[in-house]
Amino acid sequence: MYRFEPNLRIPGPTHLPPGVREAGGRQMINHRGPEFAALMARIDRRMRVFFGTEQEIILLTAAGTGGLEAAVVNTLSPGDRVLAMPTGAFGDRFAKIAGVYGADVTRLETEWGRAADPAALRAHLAADADYRAVLLTHNETSTGVTNPVAALAAVARELAPGALILVDGVSALGAVPFEMDAWGLDVVITGSQKAWMAAPGMSMIALSERAWAAAEEARMPRFYFDLREARKSAASGQTPWTPAVAVMYQVDAGLALMEAETPAGVFARHAACAAATRAGLETLGFRLLADPAFASNTVTAAWIPEDLDWKTFNGELKARQVILAGGQGKLKGKIFRVGHLGAVNLDDILGAIGVMEEVALGLGRPAEPGSAVGAAQRAVLAAGEIHPVAAQGAPA
Ligand SMILES: *Cc1c(COP(=O)(O)O)cnc(C)c1O
Repeated sequence: MYRFEPNLRIPGPTHLPPGVREAGGRQMINHRGPEFAALMARIDRRMRVFFGTEQEIILLTAAGTGGLEAAVVNTLSPGDRVLAMPTGAFGDRFAKIAGVYGADVTRLETEWGRAADPAALRAHLAADADYRAVLLTHNETSTGVTNPVAALAAVARELAPGALILVDGVSALGAVPFEMDAWGLDVVITGSQKAWMAAPGMSMIALSERAWAAAEEARMPRFYFDLREARKSAASGQTPWTPAVAVMYQVDAGLALMEAETPAGVFARHAACAAATRAGLETLGFRLLADPAFASNTVTAAWIPEDLDWKTFNGELKARQVILAGGQGKLKGKIFRVGHLGAVNLDDILGAIGVMEEVALGLGRPAEPGSAVGAAQRAVLAAGEIHPVAAQGAPA
């Protein structure tokens, strides 16, 4: 049966609100003119709030991975000792980038599905703190875990004061509270297609004073991603190279919606959608991957049960326009993921859970009609601060 649009429940790219979509279709402007400078300034001003920084937000035309690469090559030199704390596929990627550019990378591993442990970091650094940088993932999209970045950064600052703290914030910045300056973070990266409700194509990155100082010393090769050039151009309201203007229009339009909703409203909406997703999936009999204490508010991962023919189940979901994500890296074929970030409302989640329930019933799996949707709604009510009606105040 025809549905206007798919219920795109993947952790980015995310659904575009109509106003954002229309913004992407606007006519081009001179990227060396005053209108463009005003656009850049608006994005910078509104985005700082969600980074929790007074530093400028540098706009790069790139996927989030380009932002990660920019973070590495602008702060490090070949041979620098780097401590990576991967908690999944994206943490692996960050470590790999550093290695490719010649950093001497030590990996402090965490079992996938668990959060990076500040105590483990403390124990490691107590024995060896001679690092130039520590690589952290804020929200590990491959496992649905949000790492305790503030606590990890505090340990790194205390025991390895010379180490820069580089944070991949791609998949939760803009959706959950974040305080770059207060937490003492040196480089933070995000991407337009995640919580920002825009199309892919822009990566946003902020650097602390010490990171900007490091950028002057760093000897890894860089040209397109030279952030010194980006900063120089930004001072006159420009980017060094021609940017993805249409995506910037969208990021600007998305930020206007987020400002109108207020950060607290945006965060509460994500918390409500996450709580509903977790409760709904568990009631459907799925075991969640993430340690519940660190469950992400932007993406939820669940194990595919042994007795479930996933291809058939997911095929039925797709036929009903509910689009889920699969597993990455070593979790490929073992888990599925539900994205609940960006322009997501509680009714999108209840709809997806309802369809999953319907498909489960259709395949003769043990399910009670309405129980998963009911559990999802109860979870939102139990969350207290959020009433389902208030949670609908999201972008039009
Ligand atoms: C999406 C994502 C990225 C970047 O992905 P791109 O496909 O390069 O935009 C990096 N880190 C995390 C945690 C992500 O979720």
